[in-house]
Amino acid sequence: MKIDGYTRICGVMGNPVEHTMSPAIHNTLAEALGENLTYVPFRVPKGQVEEAVKGAYALNLLGMNVTVPYKSEVIPWLKELDPLSETIGAVNTLVRVEGGFKGYNTDMPGLYRAMCRDEVAIEGEKVLILGAGGVARAVAILAAQKGAEQIVILNRTAEKAQKIAKEVNVLTGRRLASARELGTYASLPGDGYLAIQATNVGMFPKTEEAVIEDGAFYEKICTGYDLIFNPAETRFMSLVKKSGGRAFNGLKMLLYQGIIAYELWTGARVDRNLAEQAYEEMKRAMGLS
Ligand code: NAP
Repeated sequence: MKIDGYTRICGVMGNPVEHTMSPAIHNTLAEALGENLTYVPFRVPKGQVEEAVKGAYALNLLGMNVTVPYKSEVIPWLKELDPLSETIGAVNTLVRVEGGFKGYNTDMPGLYRAMCRDEVAIEGEKVLILGAGGVARAVAILAAQKGAEQIVILNRTAEKAQKIAKEVNVLTGRRLASARELGTYASLPGDGYLAIQATNVGMFPKTEEAVIEDGAFYEKICTGYDLIFNPAETRFMSLVKKSGGRAFNGLKMLLYQGIIAYELWTGARVDRNLAEQAYEEMKRAMGLS
């Protein structure tokens, strides 16, 4: 890649950032689209988020991604906030506007686009969310916005699941979501659930773990969507498949949150072929192909 006086810089700020796959996505897109843009990681020390955001703007950076642990901490330092990121309370993409950055959340639109690519529908489905952390909360909001028929949140700490269910019900004005403690899975009524795995359980290096081991639970699931992408096939996914269901990992979510950010920064539209190219590059960077 040729770097000259016209090169625009984008990057990701977080701590740590060394494991990020985002440079593989964005640099592939920039190269393929002939855009004079390069994407680099920025490790921001604790307590310096304000300086990082203001510094990035002053240095004329085109855009930024924000990752753990700064997705909420960054919000007070933004000029504007997109309505979805305001509802979710987390920002992962900063776009230059007059006088500062505007914050967006592309994680949930990214998950939605990934699910569309995998031909997994939310509308009219019974959505079962495993976990009640930051991502699970955003997934519950996405499921509500995309017309889920019912949302059940299953979590080890029941109070956290209850809090999210309540928020979703206030947001939608109806009793769409309910909460359960993880151990009560056996009494879940019926079957045919779309289960979205939003806990950390099964993530590398503890790849032999699943949040629920009981095969009877997996009989209730027709599609399992694990947001974990390392390993490429989690134990949750293999248990879903063993019971005859379809299973997907979180790699395409990671890809599409990046693609949507890139589209916001550059105005480009990334077609399916190019998305595929970036996907392959990302897998290569992760040692998955
Ligand atoms: P988080 O806020 O830390 O929440 C973690 C959740 O996992 C909590 O609900 C926690 O339950 C549950 N949990 C952790 N250990 C558990 C155990 N041993 N048994 C049962 N439950 C357990 O995490 P997050 O930020 O929401 O992230 C959740 C997942 O999403 C992670 O795996 C992350 O890799 C994935 N993710 C994927 C993408 C992507 O692009 N594909 C993007 C972002 C995140 P308690 O509430 O009881 O503690």
